[in-house]
Amino acid sequence: MKGFAMLGIGKVGWIEKDKPQVGPYDALVRPLAVAPCTSDIHTVFEGALGERQNMILGHEAVGEVAEVGSEVKDFKPGDKVVVPAITPDWRSIEVQRGFPQHSGGPLAGWKYSNIKDGVFGEFFHVNDADMNLAILPEDIPLESAVMITDMMTTGIHGAELADIGIGDTVIVFGVGPVGLMAVAGARLRGASRILVTGTRPKCVEVAKLYGATHVINYKTAPVDEQVLEITNGAGVDVAIIAGGNPDTLATAVKITKPGGNISNVNYFGEGDILPIPRLEWGCGMAHKTIRGGLCPGGRLRMEKLIELVRYGRVDPGKLVTHVFKGFDRIEEALMLMKDKPRDLIKPVVLIQ
Ligand code: NDP
Ligand code: ZN
Repeated sequence: MKGFAMLGIGKVGWIEKDKPQVGPYDALVRPLAVAPCTSDIHTVFEGALGERQNMILGHEAVGEVAEVGSEVKDFKPGDKVVVPAITPDWRSIEVQRGFPQHSGGPLAGWKYSNIKDGVFGEFFHVNDADMNLAILPEDIPLESAVMITDMMTTGIHGAELADIGIGDTVIVFGVGPVGLMAVAGARLRGASRILVTGTRPKCVEVAKLYGATHVINYKTAPVDEQVLEITNGAGVDVAIIAGGNPDTLATAVKITKPGGNISNVNYFGEGDILPIPRLEWGCGMAHKTIRGGLCPGGRLRMEKLIELVRYGRVDPGKLVTHVFKGFDRIEEALMLMKDKPRDLIKPVVLIQ
């Protein structure tokens, strides 16, 4: 089969591979819609995870089940399914500790385009299909459904890690697709003011639709100064980092009130050390908690997010600004994600 792959750090291309083998609990899925992720860009072009050769890229897909193993009970060939970016090994000690994302080791629940071939192939493999697939309801369009697999679970996880209280003032760093879903998540969790940073006009427009109340242009003046001005010197109750650079973490620590949470879902792709400003962290005693997390995956998480979409709580379809038709256009969509034109939020490729 054909797949679009990372050939090595900084290099991508089409390759031929054998169709994956299906074990008793696994499934083989044919993609119907896929999307490239900023994480694919960090992985390939920054070499953020280290070298990977001839690894098929992509971890955001909805598809049709092509084959199932002998022990799979709830799915059969022909079913249309939402496939989470994170597909944990549910029989693992990390699951018992409450962190399926790290089943088998740190970040090892993230398999596609990290430790095994991703979803940009004519077929892809799903481990533990009964625990990792969710049925795609007919009333959710493919473009919206593919946003559930990673963007929605990640952004909303930012709001979960932030543990937002009713009426809290929240800042979301970044209004790319992840930040936008964090804005939607913050609103769902009861935030009052939602400040965001970003400049791409389409992203800013959609941020307001999802609930942003103040937009900060991080290019014109330091973000901390702008936040203190908006909040009359008080700062924010919680900060969610969904974009930016290592200095963004320092800024978040500075502007979060004592006792507040700093939640990170950004993928810091470069550098060895992340800065924490000593004084603003109360010399280590300010009760400012920093939490960072990989998005939750698995079947139940997907089913819950699907319910949010079906009952009109969040419309992830607003993230999709570019739709490509045909498997061959995956390359174009990935390069768009690398170049980030000003009118882009997220591209989707419909496989025909
Ligand atoms: P985008 O690049 O689309 O968005 C980044 C956002 O950050 C943009 O709004 C950008 O503004 C803003 N930004 C950039 N620099 C700064 C700065 N210095 N200060 C403040 N804001 C800034 O990324 P995505 O939304 O696609 O992804 C966000 C991150 O989440 C990525 O690192 C991605 O790899 C990661 N990710 C993490 C996952 C997880 O499970 N934890 C899963 C999926 C993705 P502008 O409008 O000017 O471009
Ligand atoms: Zn991703």
